[in-house]
Amino acid sequence: MAGEPQADCLFCKIVSGEVPATVVRETDTTVAFRDINPQAPTHILVIPKVHYPDAASLAMAEPQITADILREAGVVAAEEKIDGTGFRVVFNTGSGAGQTVFHAHAHVLGGRGLNWPPG
Ligand code: 5GP
Ligand code: ZN
Repeated sequence: MAGEPQADCLFCKIVSGEVPATVVRETDTTVAFRDINPQAPTHILVIPKVHYPDAASLAMAEPQITADILREAGVVAAEEKIDGTGFRVVFNTGSGAGQTVFHAHAHVLGGRGLNWPPG
């Protein structure tokens, strides 16, 4: 069924606790945890507890949970004190754009200067 946990999905395993992560926030619908390979001084992933392969498919099926992710990105940025200097929220979508984990997730990046456009 749409949104159900996938046995071979790393982020579903983080949601269930089967794979450990440094969780910084959790809500009924989302989990936020530190990226294992940070690309900035603060690099947090915000994911839905439900499984969809990318942000676009999540948004089609679950608009409220998509909004929850954006809200949580802002809350995490404030808690990490990167909201004043600025932060970036990124949804890599498709392998050509660098997506490697096919469970929707927002990258929240900050704590250093962020060039625009990104690479
Ligand atoms: P993507 O490349 O799909 O946009 O982002 C996937 C992110 O997940 C990468 O930034 C990668 O460092 C992170 N990641 C991959 N495996 C793990 C893991 O086991 N734990 C955590 N915390 N992050 C991971
Ligand atoms: Zn998943």
